[in-house]
Amino acid sequence: MKTAAYAAQSEDSDLGPIEIERRDVQADDVQIAIEYCGVCHSDIHTAHNDWGGTVYPVVPGHEIVGRVVKVGSNVSNFKEGQLVGVGCMVDSCQSCSACDEDLEQYCEKGAVMTYGSDDPISGGRTHGGYSNQIVVDQKFVLNVSEKLYTKAVAPLLCAGITTYSPLRQWNVKKGDKVGVVGLGGLGHMGVKLANAMGAEVVMITTSPEKGADAKRLGASEVLVSKDEDAMKAQAGSFDFILNTVPVAHDLNPYVSLLKRDATMVLVGALNPLPDLNGAGLILGRKRIAGSLIGGIAETQEMLDFCAEHDIVSDVEMIDMKDINTAYKRVMDSDVKYRFVIDMKSL
Ligand SMILES: [Zn+2]
Ligand SMILES: [Zn+2]
Repeated sequence: MKTAAYAAQSEDSDLGPIEIERRDVQADDVQIAIEYCGVCHSDIHTAHNDWGGTVYPVVPGHEIVGRVVKVGSNVSNFKEGQLVGVGCMVDSCQSCSACDEDLEQYCEKGAVMTYGSDDPISGGRTHGGYSNQIVVDQKFVLNVSEKLYTKAVAPLLCAGITTYSPLRQWNVKKGDKVGVVGLGGLGHMGVKLANAMGAEVVMITTSPEKGADAKRLGASEVLVSKDEDAMKAQAGSFDFILNTVPVAHDLNPYVSLLKRDATMVLVGALNPLPDLNGAGLILGRKRIAGSLIGGIAETQEMLDFCAEHDIVSDVEMIDMKDINTAYKRVMDSDVKYRFVIDMKSL
């Protein structure tokens, strides 16, 4: 089946229209007419080959919401017309220890990512959500509540689960003091989700002008990390810190904010990080950890949690043709807080 899409043809070309092939629906497949697709930082890194290994043409997009068009003969959980989502993965080996524990994102054979992975069924490469149709194995299709503002659900499939999973894994609960470092696509979801879990959320930012917005999103306090006196005043007081900064940065000031035995989790910075002072960890048995998206079962749990607590992303809608301008604005941090493409415009 042919479907319209938008692709990058090289690392320095703009994205433009293309026609791609989707496989015919097999027994376990769900065919989805895509209505909305979020624009994630990873889309841009992949299109620009920032991480190496991009094979062109690449169709980005892994924050997908749409409606079921057709299902295979083994599919009983999804039916035509149902509102569904697809996130960062579309397959995994289903037999390794990670997959056995519903942690497909850590599949030992490597999860099949929604775009840019080798496609084990059709050959070639997987293509993402900047397109009209997608065909996905039912195990990687999520149910989306009709209760939520549909356009703003799309970013939950990456930004939402990326922040929800560590908050759950480290058991953030009512009354905990949680710091969220960085107020972008990830950070704004971290604030909303930690707040809904009952935590006292402190926005930790270099930009004091972001304070009012952080409070609107659910932060009870704003801590400006450049203010040494303010940082000192809060040293040793945090139960958990979610660090969403997407670039290399000095972790030491944040470690000093943690209580004894508390953990800071990195979800954004994939790069080598500057020197870390071991004493900062050793003297308080503190931990730094990392976390990658979430498994499919946990992604469904997150979507259900968001439906229950009426949580969606703050979005700015764009047409497909405006994607290249949107990429520039994301790189300038000029979006509150996620672009979502209205796929009717493709
Ligand atoms: Zn993403
Ligand atoms: Zn596996």
